[in-house]
Amino acid sequence: PDTLPPLAGLETARLDWRRDDGGEEAPHSMAFDDVYFSRHDGRAETEHVFLAANRLPERLQDWREARPFVIGETGFGTGLNLLCAWACFDAQAPARARLHLVSTEKYPLGRDDLARALATWPDLAERAAALLAQWPEPVAGVHRLWLDDRVTLDVHLGDTVERLRLLDGRVDAWFLDGFAPAKNPEMWQPALFAAMAERSRPGATFATFTCAGVVKRGLKAAGFSWRKVPGFGRKREMLAGEIVAPPADTRRRATPWCTPPAPRPARRVAVIGAGIAGASVAAALAPRGVEVSLIDRERPGAGASGNAQGALYVKLAAETNLQSRAYLAGLLHSRRWLEALDPAHTLWSPCGVLQLATTDREARRQVRFLDHHSLPARVVHGVSAAQASDLAGVAIAHGGLYYPLAGWVRPEDLCRRLAATAGVSTHRGEVQALIPTTDGWRLTLAGEHGEHPLEADQVVIATATGANRFPQTAALPLQPVRGQISRLALPQGAPAPARVVCAGGYVMPPLDGWLTFGATFSPHEADGAVRETDHAANLDELARTLPGYPEALVAAGVTLTPECLAGRAAVRAASPDKTPYAGPVPDAEAWQADYAVLSKDATRVPDIPGRHHSGLWISAAHGSRGLASAPLCAELLASRICDEPLPLEAPLADHLHPGRRIIRKLIRGD
Ligand code: SAM
Repeated sequence: PDTLPPLAGLETARLDWRRDDGGEEAPHSMAFDDVYFSRHDGRAETEHVFLAANRLPERLQDWREARPFVIGETGFGTGLNLLCAWACFDAQAPARARLHLVSTEKYPLGRDDLARALATWPDLAERAAALLAQWPEPVAGVHRLWLDDRVTLDVHLGDTVERLRLLDGRVDAWFLDGFAPAKNPEMWQPALFAAMAERSRPGATFATFTCAGVVKRGLKAAGFSWRKVPGFGRKREMLAGEIVAPPADTRRRATPWCTPPAPRPARRVAVIGAGIAGASVAAALAPRGVEVSLIDRERPGAGASGNAQGALYVKLAAETNLQSRAYLAGLLHSRRWLEALDPAHTLWSPCGVLQLATTDREARRQVRFLDHHSLPARVVHGVSAAQASDLAGVAIAHGGLYYPLAGWVRPEDLCRRLAATAGVSTHRGEVQALIPTTDGWRLTLAGEHGEHPLEADQVVIATATGANRFPQTAALPLQPVRGQISRLALPQGAPAPARVVCAGGYVMPPLDGWLTFGATFSPHEADGAVRETDHAANLDELARTLPGYPEALVAAGVTLTPECLAGRAAVRAASPDKTPYAGPVPDAEAWQADYAVLSKDATRVPDIPGRHHSGLWISAAHGSRGLASAPLCAELLASRICDEPLPLEAPLADHLHPGRRIIRKLIRGD
């Protein structure tokens, strides 16, 4: 797939509020000198141009597929079109139907402008509130919003053509919007129509308000048939039509192993492992109508996801790379997901995370990072030692980066909450065997009451270091990384940071009277016993992160010796490149045969799509950043399994592909 543009913040739209023909105030774009909608009859125009001309009311009424109906829009603007489509869906579609909205936007409205624009339509107020509550930061990329149980919106921030090229998903009906071709010639290019065609399902329709020649010619050249239909109000004509035959997706010619497997039924899915990776997959699948069996040999959150408190944070590379992008997308996703799951913040706190530069090397890295990116301050910005001290409420000796949207989570409670999602049944036992059947999988589960079988259409493996213990996954390299946290009971009035503060390790704000810090990071160690030497290492790290703080604790009456600390050790799993595995499980033997030529000549890429163990998936290798990566990976898997557009760009999905190390081994031998 296309390479990604720089990771950047976007300019928000500049609006003025002009009186329209009816004498009422309406949003107007200063950059394009055009209106977003007419306040007087904007609703009726949307219904005529985009809903009726795409025959949405009829099509939604008849929608019986397990997958959602997908609407694609160019130019999200105020969201009016899509809120109207959502209302139409609610009025027309059968109870089990789902709707997926995908919309691009290069100049997103600021939240206040969006609220002001949508206040025009009182009967859309509830829908507007759902949108506003999750409205993303202006960062280029895909932002998934859960509008309600049945309706998902992916806002693809960035240029329309670029975003449609990166989109991994196909559309049933297009709303071809955007300011008028005469005012926005840059968008209405042949490349736009070609990208729409490539992202169309067979039979996809489109509708647009314009009848401009450039649009008619472009649509035709891209393979759409069009007809003129009566326009809205004073506009005599507009265009509607459909794709004749959507072209094949050729983006994975250079990486055919990343070709996604063809969709197959997913009525029942077994998820093995109820840590944050597996529990979030279960909670993503169940609302899609999938019957989920969530299996764990102990209980939800028993492994490395079992700490009482864990940091939700990322460490981004100074220069953009795919891994950093995936983690930033993951952080923004987790943040929105947690807010939707637990708006009362009983399971987490968006308190912000300080990443201190305690060494010159790290300080230089952070300067390079800030020079290289232009992310909004709400996502990340530099702070001085004094600013960091103000934010944390304890003395801090170093400047660093501040991530206002990050924070901490109660991982064990979160796993329990996710496992309790309606439609998820939990099973205790160890999966002994994973046997393919004609139409799915049979699992043998060894539990308290002996062995018993469990049948599923598809299976997701999410058992951290145990994830490659099945014959089907044995070729995926994973290494154990032992981690121990230390905890102490804080006496009343003892100082404590108000934000997560990290450098080599991290220190959390106190929770239930306990101060948690750590964690150790010991690759290749798989022992889960608590050690005093690790407590001592955590104490040293605490003193390096917050010089003077250990002394302040002692002054407050705390005994700060390794013997007096409580703690917990667990083993996380990491891949050799430190990127999680999230995707279909490759058939390693088939790959070794199909792509053998790569070991002689890496440029001779065979034209063979990757063969996979049909209906077998993995989410693993989340290391110590699972709170930022696992929920997005869960959404990625659920979207693939249920044949929906992906919540991240095709190159990022490919970056997470679990087969990448097999190809690397063929090419580079390691
Ligand atoms: N569909 C919108 C609604 O329901 O409110 C109205 C869309 S407004 C007329 C056009 C939108 O297209 C603006 O928000 C504008 O910023 C966006 N836009 C214009 N050129 C674009 C481009 N090249 N890529 C992405 N968005 C673009």
